Amino acid sequence: MKTVLVVVAHGDDMEFMCAGTVYRWVKEYNFPAYELILTDNRKGTYTLKESEIIGKSKEEAIEAGKVLGLKEVRFGNFIDGELEDIPKKHIRNIVIDMIREVKANIVLSWDPFAAGEDHPDHRVTAMATYEAISFSSNPNFGTPGLYPPHFVSEAYWFAKKPENAFTFVDITESIDKKIEALLKHETQMELTFDSLKLEAETLGIDLSGLANVDRDTRNQIIANAVKDYTAEKGKVPGYKHAEQFRYEKFGMIEMVLGQEIIKPEFPPINV
Ligand SMILES: [Zn+2]
Repeated sequence: MKTVLVVVAHGDDMEFMCAGTVYRWVKEYNFPAYELILTDNRKGTYTLKESEIIGKSKEEAIEAGKVLGLKEVRFGNFIDGELEDIPKKHIRNIVIDMIREVKANIVLSWDPFAAGEDHPDHRVTAMATYEAISFSSNPNFGTPGLYPPHFVSEAYWFAKKPENAFTFVDITESIDKKIEALLKHETQMELTFDSLKLEAETLGIDLSGLANVDRDTRNQIIANAVKDYTAEKGKVPGYKHAEQFRYEKFGMIEMVLGQEIIKPEFPPINV
């Protein structure tokens, strides 16, 4: 039995990047899974007031968590887009404390070493999580005395432009749950469409057909785009739909004992 913790910056990061995999762990392996969303998502809208988006976004994340069977969705409540203004040690300690509290064995997050990550919140989340994994086993890091030190054995790192990422998880059976969870993020789906429209307008592309699409049509378009993306990922290992990760194992016990103790549920595929 392993415990899973997903650490992300924004409400919909998990659903876009790794929800199919997380759902498999919950559904097939019965692993308890938790999500930590560090920011309040307040910049994720073209139309809503700050006071509206923050509350809505939280509700959506909780609903998405229910779809995936998560034990808890927790919020860091930092200002969206401004994580880099927070001392990294502070964020790292929050992640360390949660790792210890839930006794996480597997952590998923943005890849701290992937190139081409334009969002500062993703970069900060990635590095703080990477450091938190390394130091959650040291009692002198984190909030002293709050929880006993805890060792994290595995990480699955995701990225917009994955490099050295040779672990492909077959999500053919969980793609529908991934999309169902993603579409719970109503405000973020609106944002996705609003930015698409702006892009088209700026480039002089006629998107008038999409100007007044209803919610169901919009969701169908997004669902199709996500399915195209996961199908593309699946071509490498030969799965119908896949999510892609850089898998990392921590610790040195295997080196000391000379044998493999920790085995990934989804072994890397060399490509
Ligand atoms: Zn994000």
